[in-house]
Amino acid sequence: MPGSFEKRENEMSQQHQDLIDRDRKVTFHASSHLRDFAQGDAPGRVITGGKGIHIRDKDGREFIDAFAGLYCVNIGYGRTEVAEAIYQQALELSYYHTYVGHSNEPQIALSEKIIALAGPGMSKVYYGMSGSDANETQLKIVRYYNNVLGRPRKKKVISRLRGYHGSGLATGSLTGLKAFHDQFDLPMAGILHTEAPYYYHRAAEQEGMTEREFSAHCARKLEEMILAEGPETVAAFIGEPVLGTGGIVPPPEGYWEAIQAVLARYDVLLIADEVVCGFGRIGADFGSHFYGIKPDLITVAKGLTSAYQPLSGVIVGDRVWQVLEQGTGQYGPIGHGWTYSGHALGCAAALANLAIIEREGLTQNARDTGGYLQQAMATAFGDHPIVGNVRGVGMLAALEFSVNPEQRAHFDPALKVGPRIAAAALDDNLIVRAMPQGDILGFAPPLIATRDEIDEIVARTRRAVDRVTDELVREGAVQAVRA
Ligand SMILES: *Cc1c(COP(=O)(O)O)cnc(C)c1O
Repeated sequence: MPGSFEKRENEMSQQHQDLIDRDRKVTFHASSHLRDFAQGDAPGRVITGGKGIHIRDKDGREFIDAFAGLYCVNIGYGRTEVAEAIYQQALELSYYHTYVGHSNEPQIALSEKIIALAGPGMSKVYYGMSGSDANETQLKIVRYYNNVLGRPRKKKVISRLRGYHGSGLATGSLTGLKAFHDQFDLPMAGILHTEAPYYYHRAAEQEGMTEREFSAHCARKLEEMILAEGPETVAAFIGEPVLGTGGIVPPPEGYWEAIQAVLARYDVLLIADEVVCGFGRIGADFGSHFYGIKPDLITVAKGLTSAYQPLSGVIVGDRVWQVLEQGTGQYGPIGHGWTYSGHALGCAAALANLAIIEREGLTQNARDTGGYLQQAMATAFGDHPIVGNVRGVGMLAALEFSVNPEQRAHFDPALKVGPRIAAAALDDNLIVRAMPQGDILGFAPPLIATRDEIDEIVARTRRAVDRVTDELVREGAVQAVRA
């Protein structure tokens, strides 16, 4: 809605507008409409600070950040304890590489901590800077593993439609969202996508299925794909415990059990992408613990440092680790490493972050206050005339909008219902995320959120949804009904 954005930007100070103008000239922004932003037809904002669940812009305007940045600032903004840990480490040693056996003290302590949290069967941690590079490492490990085992054909990786695993060439290929493939000649060969565990979007022929039956259907589709490709060519399966960027969709009942049975049958490795779920977000240390997933490899990032520093990790299970050791015995040192692997400042930030999560019981809060969030959302939107589905788990929630909830019918995408509601919320100083595919509003507040703060998030969301509903009624896009 250019109208409302122009109004907002006119309310900004000259100083703020000048900064945005300079930015338009020189910065290539992630996931943005490049032309509209560069030419001044899409809004900008300069963020200057944050405290708790709030962020503040250059003019001192405060927003509730109900998406914790990009579901990563789990301990909230402005934690001086983490800043202090980074500072102290920087005084000692900011960086030395971790190649050929070099280490630093925070890396050692952090690896011990992560292995202890991840639980039995997990052996070693490899560090990177982002979730994308960590999944790139996963893909290399999977190839190496099968080459060492003398199975050079076992290389394909199966991901899921609507999965999100990063935006590089290989990791963007794993991602099962159209926008990440179009115009980039992706997905790359050898990466396949199976059915999304998205019960609400089940097709007409699955209409009568229970959640369990739908899970069995997803497992059957996976098995058919493995058999069609040839099990001797399928190396790994990657999935998020809860679909994140693809729509914030908890799995249907029995899903992971059914999927793991298929993977075991064909000797296919399981990579759990815990970039969102890891370190408390859904009320358990890992999403895998919550759903009874027994992965061979785990990817972590976002919540590992609450984004106070860029840091990611690949947690390697015993079964794979044995083969990696065997491989370097045969072929010499592994040809994989980033300059910044095990960066001391990242590891120091992670340790301080994990200490806060533990001391303040934030994983438990994600379970308790997260349960309250789920309830509050269901109460506020369960019968809303344009809400088709209210879902979530822990401190992750979504509203999916529908022009006809009884029939689960989608709005015309041209109406941009999701982005309009997110923009209306922003007018009310609430940040929620219009998810990239479908009319879905995502919520992932910092894990420190209190019940009062949840009430405020839900109240502002309700006002935004009602405001856009009224507009849609006036435009004739929906029937004139009000909850
Ligand atoms: C964000 C995300 C990634 C990618 O992490 P980046 O740090 O953006 O590269 C990978 N997997 C999941 C599940 C994510 O949510």
